[in-house]
Amino acid sequence: MLIPDMKAIQIQSTGGPEVLQLAELPIPEPGPGQVLIRVEATGVNFIEVYFRKGVYKTAFPLTPGSEAAGTVEELGPGVNGFKAGDAVASTAVIGSYAEYALVPAAQLVKVPDGVSLECAAAVLLQGMTAHYLTRSTYPLKAGETALVHAGAGGVGLLLTQMAAHIGARVITTVSTKAKAALSREAGASDVILYTEQEFEPEVKRLTGGKGVDVVYDSVGKTTFDGSLNCLRPRGMLVLFGASSGPVPPFDPILLNSKGSLFLTRPTLWHYIATRAELESRAGDVLGWAASGELKVRTEHTYPLAEAAQAQIDLEERKTTGKILLVP
Ligand code: NDP
Repeated sequence: MLIPDMKAIQIQSTGGPEVLQLAELPIPEPGPGQVLIRVEATGVNFIEVYFRKGVYKTAFPLTPGSEAAGTVEELGPGVNGFKAGDAVASTAVIGSYAEYALVPAAQLVKVPDGVSLECAAAVLLQGMTAHYLTRSTYPLKAGETALVHAGAGGVGLLLTQMAAHIGARVITTVSTKAKAALSREAGASDVILYTEQEFEPEVKRLTGGKGVDVVYDSVGKTTFDGSLNCLRPRGMLVLFGASSGPVPPFDPILLNSKGSLFLTRPTLWHYIATRAELESRAGDVLGWAASGELKVRTEHTYPLAEAAQAQIDLEERKTTGKILLVP
């Protein structure tokens, strides 16, 4: 039998953006517990850059991407609860930089009416990340203060909205005036242009020397030390990314000397490990997107063939909000 082909991005080995090549590959067949989806929009995330560069290890050849929204094309053996044509989304897609992709049914959620597939692909991963960071890792309370780096980024804009909605004061750092305006629009009360002033003294000034309750830090290498110094005694540094590079090894005694601080390095997968937790977080995020409570910015949409450019723009800090690929 002739298996029809699809367009997909394929990487043969680690390297620069040029290794992201458009290829013709066979449409995969769903195995037990899997669903084949027709991809309508793919979410681009920083983790794909880490895999491409070899910071995170993986096998090659690789079709990158784990986030997408689309429609159900075919069910594998033993899959219940979905049917062909359902609007669905997932953050556990096996190679979402493609026209078709497989997803474990256990990791697939239905997209409710009122949410477009583009919006679902744009909000699911970063929205559930912002959700677990503000509600589970450090459950923010009204009146508390959070520092959020990369405040105009994909996660940053959603995290700021959720934190502000809880009633917390949000201080953000960004690199440009245009990003500062977006961050304020999302609910930041104070925005620090770190290209013009150092964030650490400014956070101390803004908090009257007290420090913040929590820092949500996805930048890593260049912000880690300053983030620790911005915390109140017994505050928490939530290090959830490494956009500027990985943090070098450090001595835990620093947590003691800087005020009995807490440090955690969480990942989304441990916060959506059960079906109940996945459905609860996805339900909130997609529900808030449907009601308009959560504003989702997708200004950067690229054709699938331009995946390399999408990653270049993400790495070069040119983007705000979410980046999508459309097959
Ligand atoms: P962003 O849209 O936030 O893009 C990265 C931003 O980081 C840039 O726009 C830039 O903002 C800032 N930045 C600061 N220094 C650098 C640097 N040296 N190089 C590049 N960017 C820099 O990306 P995402 O929203 O997709 O992801 C944010 C981070 O969160 C990533 O590190 C990602 O891996 C992580 N993440 C972690 C998850 C988890 O569960 N642990 C889940 C999802 C994402 P500015 O110009 O304002 O400095």
